[in-house]
Amino acid sequence: MSFIVAVDGPAGSGKGTITKKIEEQIGLINLDTGATYRCVALEVLRNGYSLNDEKKITDMIDNMEIKIKKDGSKDIILLNGKDVSSAIRSKEVTSIVSQVSSIIPVREKMVLIQRKLAEGKNSIVEGRDIGTVVFPDADLKIYLDASEEIRAQRRYKENIEKGLNISYEETLENIKLRDYNDKNKKVGALKQAEDAVYIDTSDLTIDEVVEKIKELIQNIS
Ligand code: C5P
Repeated sequence: MSFIVAVDGPAGSGKGTITKKIEEQIGLINLDTGATYRCVALEVLRNGYSLNDEKKITDMIDNMEIKIKKDGSKDIILLNGKDVSSAIRSKEVTSIVSQVSSIIPVREKMVLIQRKLAEGKNSIVEGRDIGTVVFPDADLKIYLDASEEIRAQRRYKENIEKGLNISYEETLENIKLRDYNDKNKKVGALKQAEDAVYIDTSDLTIDEVVEKIKELIQNIS
């Protein structure tokens, strides 16, 4: 029998880095659902749609095929066969993604796609509404959190490493705005599931969090 681990939390809480490490160390399939919403936002920009064109955006999803391909320790995101792993992390995509993902019919379609990508495999799925909406019956639910400043600092460093020139102040503003949008969505809002294990990562190293979650996974019966 396969199992699902749901990991939710705000931007910069460490979800991406931590789930990737767990994937590498214990061989789970890692699904980054944020990347799937980022693909939608990228297509919106490429098609030049207004964010008010909700029907066009929702219909557009039927022509999108999202796949995740393993390349060594990296996951490559393929959109209609093309590698969009870098393009979906651009400032432009980041600034509209939470608005795009607030469109209710967009979420309804994306949740089905996300379930298909993870079901039937031992998966660790990260996002905002995984334990509450996408996999409410997940075998283990984790909610990762950290202070706004620590999360902005982490994102700022990551961006520098990727060669993206975004100031700390701008990064913090973006985190605050996305938190607000993500927590106030009508559907699929960022929220801790009642049965999730809460981990504040502010004062923990990545490896400490990884070890904690691995222990919890070992106890899945
Ligand atoms: O995780 P990441 O920051 O890449 O996610 C990008 C955006 O996608 C989030 O700010 C959020 O608006 C949206 N998202 C969502 N539900 C998820 C995952 C991400 O609404 N399960």
